Amino acid sequence: MARLPYARDVSERPFDVVIVGGGVAGLVAATACRLRNMSVAVIDPGDDSGASWAAAGMLSPSGEVSFTEPDVGNMMKDSFLRWSSDETWSRWFIAAPTIYAGWTSGDWAEQQRFVETLRDAGYECRNLDHDQTSRMAPGISHRLGGAVAVAEEGVVDTHRMLTDLRSDLSREGVAFVPARVISVSHDDERHTAHCHDGSTVNARLLIETVGVSDLSSRQSPAIRPQRGVTLHLVEKEHHPAVMLRCLVESRPTYLLRRGDGNVVIGATADESGEQFVDAYSVDHLLHDALTLVPSLREAEFVGARSGLRPVSPDLRPFALGNEGTLRINGLFRHGYLLSPWILEQTLLFLDAS
Ligand SMILES: Cc1cc2nc3c(=O)[nH]c(=O)nc-3n(C[C@H](O)[C@H](O)[C@H](O)COP(=O)(O)OP(=O)(O)OC[C@H]3O[C@@H](n4cnc5c(N)ncnc54)[C@H](O)[C@@H]3O)c2cc1C
Repeated sequence: MARLPYARDVSERPFDVVIVGGGVAGLVAATACRLRNMSVAVIDPGDDSGASWAAAGMLSPSGEVSFTEPDVGNMMKDSFLRWSSDETWSRWFIAAPTIYAGWTSGDWAEQQRFVETLRDAGYECRNLDHDQTSRMAPGISHRLGGAVAVAEEGVVDTHRMLTDLRSDLSREGVAFVPARVISVSHDDERHTAHCHDGSTVNARLLIETVGVSDLSSRQSPAIRPQRGVTLHLVEKEHHPAVMLRCLVESRPTYLLRRGDGNVVIGATADESGEQFVDAYSVDHLLHDALTLVPSLREAEFVGARSGLRPVSPDLRPFALGNEGTLRINGLFRHGYLLSPWILEQTLLFLDAS
């Protein structure tokens, strides 16, 4: 299929599906539409300001145990299995163990209580001595209080995945409309998205994946924003991929190595709707990461990003279909991990519509 001219002819052309929001959820939903050979327009301002651009890229169901009901936990385990086995996802999948560690003896005692919760949830956790920890996470401080490893989980290079999805979908003929939708109207079983620049996009089906945007706050369930900051460093040496989740003087901090020199440090969580990167977050994340892995002092500091996690009232992700519309949201801390679930939910909606 020929590539559409960038968003010029969209107002005249009826689409099968219009997707409002081009973060990871919108791009995965667009992928599902193309699997069903449907014509698609994705409307997004294209300023890369969504949560998807700040995410660390952990594919770690064990890390979500404290934040989720058991049924959502099982959904995550199921999605994770598809990340490693299904070729749609495996091209981006990097296998990595998760290490849970504590800095002080108090931090380690607290982590051990969490490890018991993990074991109760069916995770195999292996105690690590210092040599084993340093083989898995070279450069880690020898003063660590203690550590355990959860068998292989995974990480993804989020920016690469988003960029690949955009270019694959463009090649497939998906129209990317660089605009902000200000309202949506419905008539004769069709949906029209009205954009800030006066353009309109018309389609038989509407999928809304707008994260924390105003468009969804008027609907139920309402979405609230939770700000999170991540830092990006690059090490000269390429150490093995690993996720290190640690309590440092009661503060949860994680450090993710992708195996190619790239390191992501995260993440803060504050109930702020402000999106700027605050100085306190950078200070504490860097302090805790350098405490844990002193060799990171030599790494290049590439930058910091902030994103607003879309949080539903009961912390559950949802995909709600109604009269030709599908609303996917509430992907709080796990939009990448749940990408296979998003694909599946969109296919179910398309097949039923
Ligand atoms: C600091 C941080 C770390 C994270 N780490 C992880 C992790 O390790 N693993 C993981 O799985 N998840 C992680 N997450 C969660 C993950 O980022 C989210 O689950 C995911 O990005 C949600 O995707 P989304 O597409 O729903 O929302 P978004 O990425 O926010 O995308 C919404 C898009 O809609 C667009 N939009 C909004 N309103 C309109 C409108 N009116 N018209 C047109 N477009 C509109 C926005 O511009 C945006 O591009 C993290 C999140 C944060 C903030």
